Amino acid sequence: MVCLTLTLQTLDEWRDTLERYAGYYQCVELRVDLLEDPDSASVVELASGIPQPTIVAVRRVRDGGGFGTPSADHERERLALLEDLVASETFAFVDLEDDLRGLGAAESVEAAAETTGTRIIRSLHDFEGIPDDIDATLDRLAGPHREIPKLAVTPNSTADVHRLFRAYGPACDRHGDGGFILLGMGRFGVPTRILSRLCGALLTYTSPTGAEAAPGHIDPETMDTVYNASVLQAEARIFGVIGNPVLHSRSPHYHNPRFRRDELNAVYVPFPTDDVAEFFHLAETLRIQGFSVTIPHKEAALAHLTRLGAKIDDGSRAAGSCNTVVRRGPDSLAEGGSFAGANTDVPGFLRPLEELFGSDGLLGKSATIIGAGGAARAVCYALASRGVSLLVLNRTLARAEQLVGDIRSILVDRGREASELAAAPLARDGFRRSEHYRDIVVQTTGIGMTPNVDADPAAELEFSGAEVVYDIIYTPERTVFLSRAEEAGCRVISGRAMFDGQAAEQYRMFAERVRLGGT
Ligand code: NAP
Repeated sequence: MVCLTLTLQTLDEWRDTLERYAGYYQCVELRVDLLEDPDSASVVELASGIPQPTIVAVRRVRDGGGFGTPSADHERERLALLEDLVASETFAFVDLEDDLRGLGAAESVEAAAETTGTRIIRSLHDFEGIPDDIDATLDRLAGPHREIPKLAVTPNSTADVHRLFRAYGPACDRHGDGGFILLGMGRFGVPTRILSRLCGALLTYTSPTGAEAAPGHIDPETMDTVYNASVLQAEARIFGVIGNPVLHSRSPHYHNPRFRRDELNAVYVPFPTDDVAEFFHLAETLRIQGFSVTIPHKEAALAHLTRLGAKIDDGSRAAGSCNTVVRRGPDSLAEGGSFAGANTDVPGFLRPLEELFGSDGLLGKSATIIGAGGAARAVCYALASRGVSLLVLNRTLARAEQLVGDIRSILVDRGREASELAAAPLARDGFRRSEHYRDIVVQTTGIGMTPNVDADPAAELEFSGAEVVYDIIYTPERTVFLSRAEEAGCRVISGRAMFDGQAAEQYRMFAERVRLGGT
């Protein structure tokens, strides 16, 4: 179930929230502690009009709630309020904290729950870390009366998230599928919020945008429209993106709607990652089918894949980095499966050019490449493999020379004749030479990218108007460099086209994996 947590301060705001997210939740948690005026009769009246099962919670300040003050809990008042609410027979569940168990003062709430058939969710929140033994903590929370154990903890690393995900299987065995709640708070915990139901938890909490109940909460509409909550079925295939940071990534918004459109039982999740090798272990636990790799992990992902003996495409070798990992064969390494690493910047970059020149139209053309970084490597390999002669201009000449040498060796290794590849400084000399490499000009540095949108990496390079000019920066879509080319009459291509092209290629690989499965 997706649970909508009502977090705002008035009952009118709660009604608005229920209406705003109607259709996106199957359960509602009423956080009475956050109300300005927590009057039990009005709360019960509102709750009795909610058709979905409801949870009542009155959380203390020390548990991340709003009841009491940091220095005093007003515990007697809180328990009296809880007893009143539970006795109303309105709520399917009541959330009671772990430390209340066995406390005389809380017995009347527990007794009211027993009389009214309200199930107790026994909760423990850790805002700092994760308990040493998650299984034992869940067992303790469930207690002798088989209450629903709820453990909300704070993973601080990929290794922590992996420990959490490893705990779902044993939790299902001991407490039953849907018999427990386990989730990670904070940025590392976001994947647990998206995947916990698939992993057997009773529910995942969501709350309104701008009024999040806890760090890392997602709103219910996003949980459905972006993360496909309402259409995912058991055994859904898991994909994702690793990076640091990664929660701002647009990739989930790209891949998930396509999975839904194509009726594939799959979900694409952002995994904030601080350790690539550990993420590969997590990928085994969750049987992750494929993932995108973004800054700063592209080089480390390639190195790890190389250690695993994975199949690596020439684009990744040329670029020295890989942005896509897909599983091959069985779903785990232990079962004989393996991974493939690809650099979809290569086909993504070529796609708009081939639309313009036709698929064989690049052969024999010449190009000037500005920059010799990671992206330039993918660009140069893409063009050279299509038979385009290249001149690479870079501020640091040695880096351009190294790039040209590496691409030449990869092509020669493959038994292909390398087109003419040259390097020159990003200076007057280089610009003069570039007049002989002018069918296409590609800008690959980050100069001119938001926020430094007025910068031009090659202000002295003059366009004749006959060139096709491609700037791979995608924010903004029109850089100063590209605008200057357009004004000179050139045909121009923005980095957005490359970005969309590389994402489309990734999606093609991911969708094929879902369709073929472990065959
Ligand atoms: P990178 O590896 O850091 O390379 C940076 C390049 O910029 C190097 O050639 C560097 O020259 C040059 N440079 C840096 N500062 C300079 C300056 N002040 N003057 C002249 N040259 C300078 O970066 P990257 O990973 O290749 O990424 C570059 C850009 O490509 C980024 O904007 C990224 O967003 C974009 N990109 C777009 C796509 C897409 O899908 N559209 C895909 C990948 C990357 P030196 O060697 O002299 O330091």
